[in-house]
Amino acid sequence: MLAPPCSGTTVPGRGRAGAQCQPFSWSVSTTGYGLHLARADGQRLPVAMTAAPLRAGNELLGAVMVFRDVSREREVDQLKSSLVSTVSHELRTPLTMVQGFSELLLSRQDLGEKRSREALEQIHASAQRLGRLIDDLLSVSRIDSGKLRVDLGAVDVRGVVDEVVKVAGSQAEATRGDGPVFADRLVVEVAPGLPAVMADRDKLVQVVMNLVSNALKYSPGGASVRIVAERKRDHAEISVIDQGIGMTEVECAQVFEKFTRADRPEVRQVSGTGLGLYITKSLVEMQHGQVWVQSEPGKGSVFVLSLPLTPEPERGEAFALQGTKEPR
Ligand code: ADP
Repeated sequence: MLAPPCSGTTVPGRGRAGAQCQPFSWSVSTTGYGLHLARADGQRLPVAMTAAPLRAGNELLGAVMVFRDVSREREVDQLKSSLVSTVSHELRTPLTMVQGFSELLLSRQDLGEKRSREALEQIHASAQRLGRLIDDLLSVSRIDSGKLRVDLGAVDVRGVVDEVVKVAGSQAEATRGDGPVFADRLVVEVAPGLPAVMADRDKLVQVVMNLVSNALKYSPGGASVRIVAERKRDHAEISVIDQGIGMTEVECAQVFEKFTRADRPEVRQVSGTGLGLYITKSLVEMQHGQVWVQSEPGKGSVFVLSLPLTPEPERGEAFALQGTKEPR
């Protein structure tokens, strides 16, 4: 299939440089968008096609056509448009709130203390939401460029969980002014004597905080959320258990991907970027751990985070002799 005259690159020897369109000029032609090959399993593979004429002197013998799999390029295009649409939406919504409430405060002297404070709280919450978006984008950029480093050491799980509960409580106080609402909904069960894990403390706090704040925001009606930490052989498992909106099997399989949000009204009405779990998974894997989810729509979700315990000296020796890892 040769390109129509005047598209692509004119084959040398045909036509003059800068010449008018030559009828039937033989051209190399490339096309990429909207072209698919159907695979035997029924899947459509996006391809780019390049066609070039085969000549012997002035005689046209045929053409060579090359099809290139462009799935990766299409994925990158898709990610770029998701980035633009998520960032614009997540910037626009809080910015509108900041504009609206600040205008209200500036234009009305008679608002009274209660309404003025509510307006300020809305502005503060919107500023925090903008800050979270920027933090998430920076984290993703550092993860993807390989610039994010972890500093592993012995970390006490109880301390991490306590800090998360404290931060969740203070966030609620700062944004609502009606006490530690979030903290009241959290039930903590850390197994006594749980050994320390090998982790980066700050990043572990960030990971648990993300799982807990998801559990709270996707549990409408103020249902409680449990944080359970226990030992499983040479690992510690931290489970964040909610009784919220839950997820389907398909949603569970996609939640750790970038910019993935379930396409449901219960999710759309809560602010989010679809980046938190991608960051969570990346940070957990950098700490040699694993994270997974079990969920059922309408019943709730359990996110489990597994991290290696710090090696005990005697266990370390035994494994060194065996030259193998302890089975989990
Ligand atoms: P965000 O919450 O900012 O949208 P995340 O990456 O943290 O982004 O989560 C991705 C998606 O996974 C959410 O949009 C939601 O659809 C789903 N999700 C995450 N946590 C839960 C949960 N505890 N219960 C139900 N759905 C959840």
